[in-house]
Amino acid sequence: MDDCIFCKIARREIAVKAVGMNDSAIAFLDINPVAPGHTVVITKKHAATLMDMNDADIASLFSLVRTATRQIKAGLKCDGFNIGLNQEKAGGQAIPHVHVHVIPRFDGDGGGSMHSIVRNPPKENIDAVYKKIKDAEPVKEQAPEPEPEQEAKPVEKEEDRTKKMLKDWELDL
Ligand code: AMP
Ligand code: ZN
Repeated sequence: MDDCIFCKIARREIAVKAVGMNDSAIAFLDINPVAPGHTVVITKKHAATLMDMNDADIASLFSLVRTATRQIKAGLKCDGFNIGLNQEKAGGQAIPHVHVHVIPRFDGDGGGSMHSIVRNPPKENIDAVYKKIKDAEPVKEQAPEPEPEQEAKPVEKEEDRTKKMLKDWELDL
């Protein structure tokens, strides 16, 4: 996607402070942090939302979310995290390229939990809401086709590979 800012980052046209990387995802410090160490984890390949991704790419994205979370905790000694996605316009997604926010939390920082995102309790009872979801046309597993197989690469230690990738990007850890 030519104009997508996160695709530009993935193509290295915009510099970032990378905190981690794997074959299909990059984690970097948010330019407008809501907390110290606020990080976004993006897919290298463009996809608007999680719903547009295949299982392998989702696994890889969340694997990097885990690694980045550990790295941030090691560096900042934070007490916890909020980890989540703003999905679609109604969910507050400003950049339509899938990204997971990793927000470090510190005891007494004054922030809330997921429950403070919205206060819109249902007007119908829980059975009525459940019936609507249950009675909807079943959603089929329609994961996009995986990319064609790449040439087999020699197996490297995850740590060495990450270091090499970050060096290759000439980015800060
Ligand atoms: P969202 O509202 O979920 O779409 O969040 C997009 C996030 O990307 C915001 O928190 C922005 O501050 C962040 N962001 C946008 N451009 C950059 C950039 N060049 N480098 C780092 N973070 C960015
Ligand atoms: Zn994109």
